[in-house]
Amino acid sequence: MKHIVVTGAAGFLGSHLVQSLIGQGHQVTGIDNLSTGMIRNLAEVMENPHFVFHEADVTLPDTMDFFVDQQVHEIYHLASPASPKFYQADAIGTIWVNTRGTYHMLELARVKGAKFLYSSTSEAYGDPEIHPQPESYRGNVNTWGPRACYDEAKRLGEVFCYEYYTKQRVSVKVARIFNTYSSGLRNDDGRVISNFVTQALTGQDITVYGDGSQTRSFCYVDDNIRGLQAFMAEDRADGEIINIGNPTEYTILEVAHLVKQLTQSDSRVVFLPLPEDDPKVRRPVIDKAREILNWEPEIGLEEGLKRTIEHYRSMLQVQETG
Ligand code: NAD
Ligand code: UDP
Repeated sequence: MKHIVVTGAAGFLGSHLVQSLIGQGHQVTGIDNLSTGMIRNLAEVMENPHFVFHEADVTLPDTMDFFVDQQVHEIYHLASPASPKFYQADAIGTIWVNTRGTYHMLELARVKGAKFLYSSTSEAYGDPEIHPQPESYRGNVNTWGPRACYDEAKRLGEVFCYEYYTKQRVSVKVARIFNTYSSGLRNDDGRVISNFVTQALTGQDITVYGDGSQTRSFCYVDDNIRGLQAFMAEDRADGEIINIGNPTEYTILEVAHLVKQLTQSDSRVVFLPLPEDDPKVRRPVIDKAREILNWEPEIGLEEGLKRTIEHYRSMLQVQETG
C-alpha cells in the first residue's frame, strides 16, 4: 500500500482520482482549501479509514508540516482553479497555487523521495498556431490578458518541475490536460459542458460564445484519471511532458446541438460575445501517451455526454425537490 498525496482533492479531477486510488487500496491524503472544490465531492471516501482530508492552502509553507512524520510515495499536484470563470475571479491566487504551491509540493517530493505529477494544461499552448498540438509545440500565449494568470502560471509551474527534475533528481511528470468533463463538474462552474447540459435540462438558452466555430477536444473523466495513473506508474515517463486528452475534435456549435439532441431539449441556441483570447482551436497529439503510457481514451463524446446528462438530471431533480 502506498501513501499518496492529492492536492485539489475536493475538486472535479481530484475527487475522481482519490476515489480511484482508494478503490485500489492505497492510503490517500487529500489537501484542499475548498476554494472551488466541494467537500461533498469526497462524500464516498470521507469515512474510509484509508483516507485523510487535510483542509489547507498549498501556497502556505506550513501546510507541508502535516507530513513531517509520514512517508509519502507519490504526489499528484492538482490544486488550481481550472474554469476560466473561477481562475479569472482569483487571478493572483491562481498564480500562487501554480507557482508557490508547485514549489512547496516539489519540495515535499524532494524531502520524501516521492514521485510527483503536475497537472498542467493545454492552455500552455495558448491560442495555437500549430494544429493539432504536440508536446514539442512551444505555444502562443498572451501575457497581457485575462487568461494569462492561468496559462503563464501553469507554464511557470512546468519550469519549477524542470528544475526539480534536472537539478534535484525528483521523479517528475507533467501532464498537459485537455478539456475534461463529466457529471462531477459543478453546474455553476461556467465550463462549456456543465453550462450546456444544465441549460438544456432546465430549459434555459444554450449560450454559444462567438459563432461557435472554435473547437475543443473533450475527454471523459474516467479516461483522464486512467491516463494520470498510467503516467505516474511509468518510470520511462520521468521528466516528460505528455498530453492527456481525447483527440476527437468538435466545434462548440456541434457540441451545443449534440447536447440539445441528447437531452431532447426545447432550449434555444443563442450567441453571445466570444471572451477575449479564447483559443480558436484545440486538439492534442497523443502519440507520446500511446507510445510511453500505452494509453488512449476509450469513451467518445456522445457516450460521455449521455452519462453526464443522466447524472445532472438526477442532481437537478434533487435540487428542485430538496
Ligand atoms: P477544480 O476547480 O474542480 O479543482 C481544483 C481544486 O483545487 C479545488 O478543489 C480547489 O478548492 C483546490 N484549490 C485551489 N487552490 C488551492 C490552494 N491554494 N490550496 C489547496 N487547494 C486549492 O478543477 P479541476 O477541473 O478538477 O482541475 C484540477 C487540475 O487539473 C487543475 O490544476 C487544472 O488546472 C488541471 N486541468 C484541468 C482540466 C479540466 O478540463 N478539468 C484541463 C486542464 C488542466
Ligand atoms: N463556451 C461557450 N459557452 C459557454 C461556455 C463556454 O460557447 O457557456 C465556449 C468557450 O468560449 C470556449 C469553449 O466553449 O471556446 C470551452 O470553454 P471552457 O470554459 O469550457 O474551457 P476552455 O477550453 O476555454 O478553458
